[in-house]
Amino acid sequence: LIELRDVNKHFGALHVLRDINLTVGRGEVVVVIGPSGSGKSTLCRAINRLETVESGTILIDGEALPAEGKELARLRAEVGMVFQSFNLFAHRTVLANVSLAQVKVRGRKRGEADRRSRELLERVGLADQAEKFPAQLSGGQQQRVAIARALAMNPKALLFDEPTSALDPEMINEVLEVMLQLAREGMTMIVVTHEMGFARSAANRVVFMADGQIIEDRTPEQFFTAPESDRAKDFLSKIL
Ligand code: ATP
Ligand code: MG
Repeated sequence: LIELRDVNKHFGALHVLRDINLTVGRGEVVVVIGPSGSGKSTLCRAINRLETVESGTILIDGEALPAEGKELARLRAEVGMVFQSFNLFAHRTVLANVSLAQVKVRGRKRGEADRRSRELLERVGLADQAEKFPAQLSGGQQQRVAIARALAMNPKALLFDEPTSALDPEMINEVLEVMLQLAREGMTMIVVTHEMGFARSAANRVVFMADGQIIEDRTPEQFFTAPESDRAKDFLSKIL
């Protein structure tokens, strides 16, 4: 469903993505881990063309991402993204936050969009918060709104970039629970996270990145019990 072939990118002299080859099949959950600065966020952003790449191909459902234009907007909408900072519109209600892009990008009628939004808010456990503003919610609730907003576009896949890193510990699980549920329902997901419990219970594969390269791409069992590379062993010894 998502395929990267020989993708390369520099920031100045820094080779931030090096010959990245990654295929994520329909319904697969891939957890991406690695040290700070290894290129995980850049990888996510490249998949959505929030960053350009210099060489290589990125395919979404078999279609190559164009550099710009209508086709890019259409393909981009197929892959939802959830960031560390929830990026909700502060002056809009929760309901409006989830409905806005449905109207603007998907061209849905307001009533239809609001109906869909309420369904999704229910699904993430926030049915009773629809009329509130983001600042009136906890961080965990705001992140669940961001997930509902991403789902509202009916994406084929979701990208998560450290969705729980900005949250207080007691709110992490409520967000991971929603993500785990999505994984069980067959959503295709790429998740950058340091939550190893999530990786073990939800991931089909763990991709370990360092210095802009994919060093290991294996099942969680294989990766956590017998990492092959010294970089991965060193990383795991620090976080586990
Ligand atoms: P973290 O775990 O800290 O989030 P990461 O693996 O997500 O790290 P990236 O954010 O992808 O890492 O960054 C990879 C490298 O590229 C880092 O060295 C970073 O400083 C650099 N970088 C990222 N964005 C830019 C930019 N817009 N301009 C210049 N350098 C950048
Ligand atoms: Mg990052």
